[in-house]
Amino acid sequence: MISIENISKRFTTNHGDVDAIKNVSLNVPIGQYLAVRGHSGSGKSTLLSLIGGLATPTSGRISLDGFEISSAAAGERAAFRAAHIGFVFQMFHLLPYLNILDNVVAAAVDPNAAKVREKAQSLLCQFGLESRLHHRPGQLSAGERQRAAVARAMINNPRLILADEPTGNLDAKNAEAVLDLLAEFHQNGRTVLLATHDESAAARAQGSLQMQAGEILGEDGAAAADASDESLESAN
Ligand code: ADP
Ligand code: MG
Repeated sequence: MISIENISKRFTTNHGDVDAIKNVSLNVPIGQYLAVRGHSGSGKSTLLSLIGGLATPTSGRISLDGFEISSAAAGERAAFRAAHIGFVFQMFHLLPYLNILDNVVAAAVDPNAAKVREKAQSLLCQFGLESRLHHRPGQLSAGERQRAAVARAMINNPRLILADEPTGNLDAKNAEAVLDLLAEFHQNGRTVLLATHDESAAARAQGSLQMQAGEILGEDGAAAADASDESLESAN
């Protein structure tokens, strides 16, 4: 369960403060597939980066299955993230000098563990990249890169995927393919948060919340803040 209590995030810049998240509270039960909708600048990426521990809130608390990521030290956040969370970004963020097989292997908690290469290869093959394993990201199409990035996000068998505009640079067919992979991940009992301004992508989720100027305007679907704990067991 993702439990978010009264978080705010203020960025201080030379040109003044920006309140990117304003007093947001939210519970996301395990196994939920939730879209975070909203225009550019509404705070979607900031919210996901706080949940994933890439940044910490200015105030408030976030805990993931009881681990309080918002107050953990950077090293602890990184270790938790590696073990339990997969990130997918609009710009893929693959390492340019590694082929995609090595990109996926490098993201493993222990890249030298037995079977990591086989698992990376099998994920990439499952995602239709069997003939591209040794190609570097620059040698691939956007859709292929994003499928490789989803494979990387899944290498550690995470419980949670945070996908930030994962279809933003893809044509309709590749967007569909990436959304299919997220849906399959969700069908296996995992939690997915999908930040998107694309209504058709958002429609693939079970529920959605709408952000505007750092606040949650409204929710629909099963994301209510008083959601019960009954799905806690369905995660594994
Ligand atoms: P979205 O993902 O919905 O487009 P963001 O979360 O990226 O929105 O941004 C929310 C607001 O916070 C925007 O006004 C943006 O300019 C601001 N912001 C995001 N990151 C930073 C940063 N590192 N420094 C200053 N302002 C930022
Ligand atoms: Mg964004």
